[in-house]
Amino acid sequence: MSLDNFTAVGAAVQAQSIAQDRTVSTVTRRLTVLGATGSIGRSTLDLVARNEAAFSVEAVTAHSSARELAELARRHRARVAVVANPDCYAELKAHLAGSGIEAAAGPEAVVAAASLPVDCVVAAIVGAAGLAPTFAAVAQGRRVALANKECLVTGGAVFMDAVAAAGTELLPVDSEHSGAFQAIGAARLQDIERITLTASGGPFRTWDRARLAAATPAEALKHPNWSMGPKITIDSATLMNKGLELIEAFYLFPVGVERLGVVVHPQSIVHCLVAYKDGSVLAQLANPDMRTPIAFSLSYPARMVAPTVPLDLVKLGQLTFEAHDPERFPAIGLALDALARGGSAPAVLNAANEVAVAAFLEGRIGFLDIARTVATCLDKAEQAALVMEPSSLADVIAVDGAARILARNVIAGVQ
Ligand code: NDP
Ligand code: MG
Repeated sequence: MSLDNFTAVGAAVQAQSIAQDRTVSTVTRRLTVLGATGSIGRSTLDLVARNEAAFSVEAVTAHSSARELAELARRHRARVAVVANPDCYAELKAHLAGSGIEAAAGPEAVVAAASLPVDCVVAAIVGAAGLAPTFAAVAQGRRVALANKECLVTGGAVFMDAVAAAGTELLPVDSEHSGAFQAIGAARLQDIERITLTASGGPFRTWDRARLAAATPAEALKHPNWSMGPKITIDSATLMNKGLELIEAFYLFPVGVERLGVVVHPQSIVHCLVAYKDGSVLAQLANPDMRTPIAFSLSYPARMVAPTVPLDLVKLGQLTFEAHDPERFPAIGLALDALARGGSAPAVLNAANEVAVAAFLEGRIGFLDIARTVATCLDKAEQAALVMEPSSLADVIAVDGAARILARNVIAGVQ
């Protein structure tokens, strides 16, 4: 897609949204929340509960948290509740007894829930399991508030082509991309000099390599600023999260990889900076609470009240910025390497990382082995011709599956 196309699509979406804006406050938006029991899902439903006149809930989904899902479905008077794990169907059904809420189970039922007619689907399933349901939501051509990273990291051009083909309005939920989206506004992409994503640096920002080698899952799960699900919290400690976000930005804001960058900003107040060719830099600031970017994706182009702490710069005193250290945190370099290899290489990176993070959380590999595993998998995938140009969701899922097997073998020492 050329820059002109991208801005033309953006302008059309903007014009359409502005036309609809008059109705935002008076018409209830119907939502489906995929991954409703997770960190993003719960924050989304918290906002919905505080704005009951503005939103209603059609469907909620989870993997196996049947009781929690049933509670959320009842509280938000959803029409449908779905667990991806078929073994949890009986439990879900029992907890929904007498509520009139339809229960369903299995990955196909999640895809069916994602396809129901609504105004917005919040895509907040963690991992590659989010691909098929989010692709299904995109195919309906309705608004998708995208938290799941894998659609862009693994799906890449295939996902963006599906978005363009269906005319889907894609709103980034991730704070950095929401920040970029806000700082770009109606600007032309060709006027952008640089998009810089900020990284908190995670809990190990100041640790040396010897200490990093012995870091435990419990230590890595203690994020200094953000409260998030376990997988993304580990990714924040390795900085792979920022690598994945660079790949997401590459597809969302096609200014070219050479115009994307990262700066470490331990306070997580500035989320993104967009520098223009005239020297202006627009930054988006907010306290680190995902309800701010989620709220923006739900109410766009209007703004809704979010129960977040107002930003007090005087109280904060100072905002600091530093370069990231590629020696201690090689994951950002690996993500850029995957983009340079092209095609399905980012899908390999993502799958290898997911397998390695799971192994780390289970105490089977050390913290520094996560990036090592990913690097080895990228090389081996290229040798095994796994790095190719996927042309469909099926291709993407096939690469993802093969890369997982490769990563498990690398971790098991079966090379
Ligand atoms: P969580 O782990 O907190 O929640 C994940 C959700 O997905 C849960 O509802 C879970 O159900 C469901 N789920 C897990 N596996 C499957 C599966 N196989 N099939 C269907 N549903 C499944 O994750 P987060 O909320 O932290 O993150 C969600 C996504 O948003 C991730 O891709 C993450 O990278 C991204 N993101 C998150 C941010 C955050 O602040 N948390 C910030 C930016 C992006 P169950 O409860 O039953 O396991
Ligand atoms: Mg982020």
